[in-house]
Amino acid sequence: MNHDGVRGAGRFAPSPTGPLHAGSLLAAVASFLDARSQSLPWRVRLDDLDQPRHEAGAERAILLALERHRLHWDGPVDRQSEHVDRYAAALDELSRQGALFYCRCSRRTLRNADAYPGRCRHHVEPRPDSAIRVRVDDAVVTVDDLVLGPQRWTLSEQGGDFVVRRRDGIIAYQLATAIDDGNPDITRVIRGRDLLHTTPRQVFLMERLGLDVPGYGHIRLLVDSQGQKLSKQSHATPLDLTRPAANLTRTLALLGLSTAPATDDCEALLAWAADRFLVSGIPSDDAVAS
Ligand code: GLU
Repeated sequence: MNHDGVRGAGRFAPSPTGPLHAGSLLAAVASFLDARSQSLPWRVRLDDLDQPRHEAGAERAILLALERHRLHWDGPVDRQSEHVDRYAAALDELSRQGALFYCRCSRRTLRNADAYPGRCRHHVEPRPDSAIRVRVDDAVVTVDDLVLGPQRWTLSEQGGDFVVRRRDGIIAYQLATAIDDGNPDITRVIRGRDLLHTTPRQVFLMERLGLDVPGYGHIRLLVDSQGQKLSKQSHATPLDLTRPAANLTRTLALLGLSTAPATDDCEALLAWAADRFLVSGIPSDDAVAS
């Protein structure tokens, strides 16, 4: 049981690299409705470890956009930067298991490799100026995705041994996210399909560390006319916060709920949608942003 007296929760985990755009709103609303439709709490976690990529003011802008759309989160805003002790303990445990090695391969040396070629695998003792990788050996991960159905990955064919602590000392997204989503409080991870390829690595780490694996659902993306995912990196237009109900109505249609009542009341729209929402009912093809 969590502190809301319910078992489990959903979560939305933006990185503070820019304001929300229509694509990130789609992921936020899907995960919000998935939680609300099951009477589960909905958490917001800021994935704020990669400080060099942060944009000043992004954190505030993201939370303000959620508030304006009445996407109310439960409990305090969580931040990965507050969990560094947990990540260090996980690294210690993986090290005790003999799963880690210290790698100085540059991006350039690995450029043409489909999977990590194993070059530094024998460097099991700490050495400076190294990334830390975890060995995947012959691990296979299976997930029954709530949207895409059964998935199966052989990790050695998915890039192989992967980085859990970067050369600059920053904990890698895969490890931090595995630890945070492996917390028993989190039972539903609904996010964009662009992150599907990260799931086998996160589940692999959860399994190695004996953590609880949440239910995953990877939803359609919003793409531009060239088929590229809308993203902060490609400078997608930030949401117009003067029109939250219109933004929500468009988003609900993308989630398969196209007959929303005409209203400016975001709470009413979200309540209407939560009564009808089914993550498995979201159309599975990518959607072109209008
Ligand atoms: N923080 C990452 C992002 O914004 C990952 C989110 C997730 O795992 O849902 O792309």
